[in-house]
Amino acid sequence: MSASKLEHFQRQVSELLLRDRSLLDAMTKLSQSSASVNRAVAKAVTECGCIELNARQQPFSQAQRLDEIRHLSRSHMSGQLCEHCRDFVRSEMGKTLFYFAALCSLLDIGFEEIVDEEIKKCATLGLFNLT
Ligand SMILES: [Zn+2]
Repeated sequence: MSASKLEHFQRQVSELLLRDRSLLDAMTKLSQSSASVNRAVAKAVTECGCIELNARQQPFSQAQRLDEIRHLSRSHMSGQLCEHCRDFVRSEMGKTLFYFAALCSLLDIGFEEIVDEEIKKCATLGLFNLT
């Protein structure tokens, strides 16, 4: 997504917030929508069955090199989201982005700035970023 799209999205969200600019409301809706993303994924497992979980201990030790761990690390998931579940998960992710952008706007933080910072961190930290 280009930077201008993020700015445009945040501006749109900000305009929609004209009537409801409560910080607490944005905070709680962000939490709620984030939980709804997880719920949508869980439903794909338990109600639809298009993806399955088979969680177990990761098959590597702390002593192994990070580039080796990358190849051994497992998602614990098999299958793929069906069209219905994909649409549902995407919709919930979209709501989360909406309230995230709303919180950014209310706090006068640029959504794009955050993404730019994270891109820099990923580039700088590389493999160590997610440890
Ligand atoms: Zn499904």
